[in-house]
Amino acid sequence: MKLKHLEMTLQRLSGFPRPQAALEQYPTPAPLAARLLYHALMKGDIEGKSVCDLGSGTGILAIGAALLGAAMVKGIEIDQKAVEVAEANAAQVGADVEFIVADVRDAALPGRIATCDTVIMNPPFGAQQAHADRPFIDLALKTAPVTYGIFNAGSTQFIESYTAGRAKITEKVGGVFPIKRTFSFHTKDTQDIEVEILRLIGKRFTNPGA
Ligand code: SAH
Repeated sequence: MKLKHLEMTLQRLSGFPRPQAALEQYPTPAPLAARLLYHALMKGDIEGKSVCDLGSGTGILAIGAALLGAAMVKGIEIDQKAVEVAEANAAQVGADVEFIVADVRDAALPGRIATCDTVIMNPPFGAQQAHADRPFIDLALKTAPVTYGIFNAGSTQFIESYTAGRAKITEKVGGVFPIKRTFSFHTKDTQDIEVEILRLIGKRFTNPGA
């Protein structure tokens, strides 16, 4: 599937029916999702791989991974309502994804989802609840040797120090995340947030002692 076709397909998916600010439910816009996925595809991290989407929301990243030929895709999401939309979205475009209602902070989760080759995620940026992104990063590094995450621009240093000894950032791609007016505290119709897509390699898998 070509990049443009992927983007157009993802554009058709439904978003959150009633987005919750506390969970930072901001769907990744199709162009940014397609960009992350295509980038990961080119790096050999999607096709034929098992892929886990942490905080899968309405499913755009997980569904895109399935459309690009991932062998198996799981989406982990705390909000049952979002999972229902994600399941309908996957059915609409014929993508095979297993969505699981679970909290990424659940200590039993790594055992439940086993390991994945690649994690893809757009975690909460921690705007509502400080450090909300940390359990996502922790679970990603426990679950997969390779992680792609969307973070606020300028987060690289924080991610680097937070994952010191556990992971290495091997790539950084810049992007824009246009956020539509969603919550009462939003003052503009759309606000462009500068983001960065980071690729992390977990040391746990290359060096089991780490
Ligand atoms: N991956 C989707 C949604 C991103 S928004 C997309 O790219 O469009 C972040 C998602 O993380 C929301 O769907 C939110 O409900 C979910 N989330 C927030 N805290 C969570 C937690 N502790 N465990 C699992 N999911 C969580």
